[in-house]
Amino acid sequence: MKIVHETEKCIGCGACTVVCPKYWKMGDDGKAHLLNSKINPDTKNEELEIKETECNREAVNVCPVQCIHIQK
Ligand code: SF4
Repeated sequence: MKIVHETEKCIGCGACTVVCPKYWKMGDDGKAHLLNSKINPDTKNEELEIKETECNREAVNVCPVQCIHIQK
């Protein structure tokens, strides 16, 4: 499965980095970034293949603008 971050929509609240620091970090641009992810050239979203959701389920739940997605 895959984690997708719609970086454009991120308001930089930092919640995902608190509940899931293994995968999420705030950047100098004031937005969160998905560590080790690749930018999808079509959508400009950050994407990362994962085997286990781990704390990303919490990150999805705390994001106030629903810009984190787990796709199967
Ligand atoms: S919780 Fe959502 S809006 Fe807040 S920093 Fe993370 S991705 Fe951005």
